[in-house]
Amino acid sequence: MADDLYVRYQTADAKYRAHRGSCTTCTDAVRCGAGGRLYESFARLQDAYLTRQQQRR
Ligand SMILES: [Zn+2]
Repeated sequence: MADDLYVRYQTADAKYRAHRGSCTTCTDAVRCGAGGRLYESFARLQDAYLTRQQQRR
């Protein structure tokens, strides 16, 4: 069964990591505009994914 939410969560994670790897501004503490948007998108999907995992137990 395809797990769309998990795929989107992993994709957002990969995009953010790729950006951070190539961006000279983004660190653990500071994010540029584009990095901030990528991180927020990743954080929302991670929240939704983890919440759903907890509800399944
Ligand atoms: Zn950046």
